[in-house]
Amino acid sequence: MRAIRRFTVRTSLPPQLAPLAELVRNLRWSWHPETLDLFADVDREAWERVGHDPVALLGAVETGRLLELAADRRFLRRLADAADDLREYLTAPRWYQSLEDAPRAIAYFSPEYGIAAALPQYSGGLGILAGDHLKAASDLGVPIIGVGLLYRHGYFTQSLSPDGWQLEHYPSLDPGGLPLTLLREADGTPATVCVTLDGAQPLRARIWVAQVGRVPLLLLDSGIAENDPMARDVTDRLYGGGSDHRLRQELLLGVGGVRAVRAYCRITGHPEPEVFHTNEGHAGFLGLERIRELTEARLSFAEALEAVRAGTVFTTHTPVPAGIDRFPADMIARQFSGSAWPTVDVANVLELGAEPGPGGDPSVFNMAVMGMRLAQRVNGVSRLHGEVSRAMFRGLWPGFDLDELPIGSITNGVHAPTWMARELLELIGGDHLTGVGDERGWERVDRLSDADLWAVRCRLRTRLVAETRKRLKRAWLRRGAAEAELGWVDQVLDPEVLTIGFARRVPAYKRLTLMLRDPERLTALLLHPDRPVQIVIAGKAHPADEGGKRLIQQIVRFADQERVRHRIVFLPDYDMALAQVLVAGADVWMNNPLRPLEACGTSGMKAALNGGLNLSIRDGWWDEWFDGANGWAIPSAEGVADPDRRDELEAAALYDLLEREVTPRFYDRTADGLPRRWLEMVRHTLRSLGPKVLAGRMLKEYVLDLYTPAAKAAREFAADDHRNAKRFAAWKVRVSRAWPGVRVEHVEGSGAGDTPELGTRLKITATVALGELSPEDVEVQAVYGRVGAHDELIRPDHVTLTMETIHDDGRARYAGVIPLDRTGAFGYTVRVVPSHPLLAAPAELGLIAVPEEPAGMTNGTLR
Ligand SMILES: *Cc1c(COP(=O)(O)O)cnc(C)c1O
Repeated sequence: MRAIRRFTVRTSLPPQLAPLAELVRNLRWSWHPETLDLFADVDREAWERVGHDPVALLGAVETGRLLELAADRRFLRRLADAADDLREYLTAPRWYQSLEDAPRAIAYFSPEYGIAAALPQYSGGLGILAGDHLKAASDLGVPIIGVGLLYRHGYFTQSLSPDGWQLEHYPSLDPGGLPLTLLREADGTPATVCVTLDGAQPLRARIWVAQVGRVPLLLLDSGIAENDPMARDVTDRLYGGGSDHRLRQELLLGVGGVRAVRAYCRITGHPEPEVFHTNEGHAGFLGLERIRELTEARLSFAEALEAVRAGTVFTTHTPVPAGIDRFPADMIARQFSGSAWPTVDVANVLELGAEPGPGGDPSVFNMAVMGMRLAQRVNGVSRLHGEVSRAMFRGLWPGFDLDELPIGSITNGVHAPTWMARELLELIGGDHLTGVGDERGWERVDRLSDADLWAVRCRLRTRLVAETRKRLKRAWLRRGAAEAELGWVDQVLDPEVLTIGFARRVPAYKRLTLMLRDPERLTALLLHPDRPVQIVIAGKAHPADEGGKRLIQQIVRFADQERVRHRIVFLPDYDMALAQVLVAGADVWMNNPLRPLEACGTSGMKAALNGGLNLSIRDGWWDEWFDGANGWAIPSAEGVADPDRRDELEAAALYDLLEREVTPRFYDRTADGLPRRWLEMVRHTLRSLGPKVLAGRMLKEYVLDLYTPAAKAAREFAADDHRNAKRFAAWKVRVSRAWPGVRVEHVEGSGAGDTPELGTRLKITATVALGELSPEDVEVQAVYGRVGAHDELIRPDHVTLTMETIHDDGRARYAGVIPLDRTGAFGYTVRVVPSHPLLAAPAELGLIAVPEEPAGMTNGTLR
């Protein structure tokens, strides 16, 4: 079959309606209900027909209707107001404009973006997070430039076969039919970037700009005539194809992405980014392109690396080893040798992605490891995930305590105006929801009466029920059922019944089918005569994941049974539009991953913003913010090695909670019919979690804790023709070479007596051999704290010792005092670490010297 070439004919609007095109082009409509109302009023029937897609709407409206509107003074007034409002939103100073020293611009790279259902360029949490990151940046006035790829088939859409097997479809998207504008040079020709593949093959791409409020998102598109067929297909699908294909995509995203940013800034006059943020390893090649730029400006690789690292932030998103991008090293070597990279030595490139031993595979190039070496600032996406990542990547910084490894964490957030139901936005809305201005607005929740709060919850549940019936009918028709046999679908779900939502991608660790562990017990919960529950489930399995598809089939087969099909539903094609109805309408949001494999999880946050209560394993964000009263924690059987036994235990705990805690509370009504004890938890959820789960909160943390320090470091490294980058690189070489000569030779503690007591001060002296280094190159520290079962220090503190004397042979005596400030087994040791004003963390170089024997670890038990 010949592929059909699609293109979209754009309507020419009467001049009076020109602002409408402006409104459609800026994706701010996706989180601005008033603008959506205006679109709906253009043509209500067409608006429904095109599935609330504004670009499609403009193509669908009859010319007659447009002429009518062009003469409708009321409509024109509303249109002018909406356009004014957008202009004000785009230009007025926001939170960021009050900061000093913040970066002039930040480039944010991600392989996927979830901005709106009408721009299907996402597969799951990573993309949704990236979309929310840009929207929050826009709300706060953060000058981000987003960079990604435009996939001509997006991610697949999902349907089901008659027997419940996932089927994938790849509808082709025409960029002309999407809310995108082509970036053009001053002479009108499309701006292009070109990346060389395999040393010789040109891969060209155009740059589409999606305007996300104030934030431009550059999407590279290789589907153009100038490319040969292979190159044209590079941006065909999100996460499709083998590793060759993925590598080409990542080269285009990273290398081509930097070139696209340069083109965008040159053409539009936008300030050049001072900070580059790599959202997951896929975009890591951006660092190599920036190194190449600097090596062409005559820096050595090592010098360029320092300058680039200073201004780079890397966020890791997965503790699942299979989720980490790894390529055969020779595949990478092929891309970076040859004439396309004349100033970059391929050996240096390979070193960046080499997995540290032991356990590292020398034939592999690891994108996450490269990400960490290319960024001076690295973070995980929840507190627990930060911890897990430090353990996972500890090989990069051998000898350091886990707590000291330079991987921090910023817990993800969600964009409230996108994910909160309009009813609630209107009741408690305000700038506090976006993070701009007054943070305190959440007390508005207290001003709502129980009756009003319940009325909203019921309205949202009712909407979910209606949407479920509509989608379920569509799904059954696609599965081959006839309309006449689908009468029962109109009775599916009950607007009064406790509703559980469960929706997410379907990798094994998320355990879609844990709820099926004991089918009879689940059935009893669904069909309980007085306290029934109903469950709405959705999720896509990766096209290559047969195991995931089997899980979906199991759920679908269970839900197909006549006796339960009115209480449990699997809805195909989970996307942002379905997510919005689902997170708002569910009373309970259920999540049962294998702890600690959920890096953060965000759908539960969306539910919380709507007053949904979380019922979840304490993983990701829930580990951090569950407080005993804002939902329920499913006990995790993490220590149990047998996975089957573990599932059994955790499933049993889940049923117990549902039977004993969740359903009784929901159905416990006072005389006026209100579930007061339930509403207490709803209110508490909104009040306590509302301010925390916001993407605005997250973005402020990125700006203050990572972007601003990174910009400052980048400026320091770049000043005076990169003087500091050159010096620092030379210092690093010198210190690394001389490090084997650094030794802690002798440690002594005195002044505590034989039976030390709390509050005593211990004098520490140490003799340190500095070898060829000078005292300014190092810091000598006494490290102390409580001693654990394996003679390790638990969350130790440290003090810097001062040098008292130094001999000609490089031996120096250091001294200092540590407080015995905790009872129990107490220990200390002395260590030497590199010291330089431009280091972001002492562990950064992975160099440390400790006493040969832990003799300095004198244990004393305090009473
Ligand atoms: C929020 C969201 C996700 C991410 O959900 P998690 O709970 O983080 O797995 C995935 N898909 C869609 C459509 C979403 O809206």
